[in-house]
Amino acid sequence: MCAGRASFWIAAIGLMFASRALAYDGPLVDGHAHWGGSFDTHAVIERYRSAKVVAQLVMPRYLGTIQDLATTDERVLQLAAEYPAEIFVLAGMQRPDFTFMNWDSPNANALKILIEIDQKLIDRKVYGIGELLVRHWAYAGDGGKVGQHAEIDKPLDSVFFRMIAALALKHDVPLVIHMEGYPRLVRQLEAVLGQMPQLKLIWAHGCGRLNAEIIRKLMDTLPMLYCDLSNMTNTGGYGSGWPRAEEFTARMEEKGVWLEAYRKLILDNPDRFYIGMDVAHRSRWDMQQGNTFEERVNRTRELLKQLPEPIALKLAYANVVQIFRLPLDMQ
Ligand SMILES: [Zn+2]
Repeated sequence: MCAGRASFWIAAIGLMFASRALAYDGPLVDGHAHWGGSFDTHAVIERYRSAKVVAQLVMPRYLGTIQDLATTDERVLQLAAEYPAEIFVLAGMQRPDFTFMNWDSPNANALKILIEIDQKLIDRKVYGIGELLVRHWAYAGDGGKVGQHAEIDKPLDSVFFRMIAALALKHDVPLVIHMEGYPRLVRQLEAVLGQMPQLKLIWAHGCGRLNAEIIRKLMDTLPMLYCDLSNMTNTGGYGSGWPRAEEFTARMEEKGVWLEAYRKLILDNPDRFYIGMDVAHRSRWDMQQGNTFEERVNRTRELLKQLPEPIALKLAYANVVQIFRLPLDMQ
């Protein structure tokens, strides 16, 4: 009995070491973070530090509810001043003004916000613009019409998108978009980027959750297109087909193993991807199990370990630092 128990523990400890050896354990930079007014600052910072996610690129969320308040660029810039090596800010785009507006007829309020963003970029307070919600699926069970969970369906090939893109071009900073990969939107993206080839466009969540073959074709023709892999681990979020999936919605991994075509895509385009966690809501910090921050981090580490080390380091932090020119010394 005793011997049996001992061998159980030896096996368990062996497994523990084996699984540790199977995960990248170096620093990560979260290339797709959000902040809201209900976040517990110290708790969130502590969670990042414990997980060895050494810095985060924050996209302030202006959309909110009573339980999950909105925030502003200004408030997150204050946080960045408190944690200057850990928090870097983009000009927030998840705004009610943009969500409920006709993008071919931008209103005065939207123009005023763009002028404010122009100033933040002139002052070098922010490192880019995002996350612009172009095509966003409502979260399950919330009716899809209100707050941060809204169903959003905007044209990329539109006056307003071009205005934001022009701002990004003027300051030579990246623009991050959320856009589920409908074929008609892929065509719009090709048309717009064809006219604005200098625009550094980060298409979040594995380029709208497209499959490796389509991403490869786009990357071959659009040299400034990047995919962030935020929330694309198959742990319950976007990488699991949540909150819904269409024919064009793909995964990048199953059970902690890359789909081979996806891994090959990354190996062939190692400068075009970076990782991110995308914890956008207070409820996701509070939840005890499921697609938690730590679950996403751990799965990301397992996946990185399956890439050659120099490429793993690019995805872990080097690419995001370079693309956004973050003043972050990772040596
Ligand atoms: Zn998103």
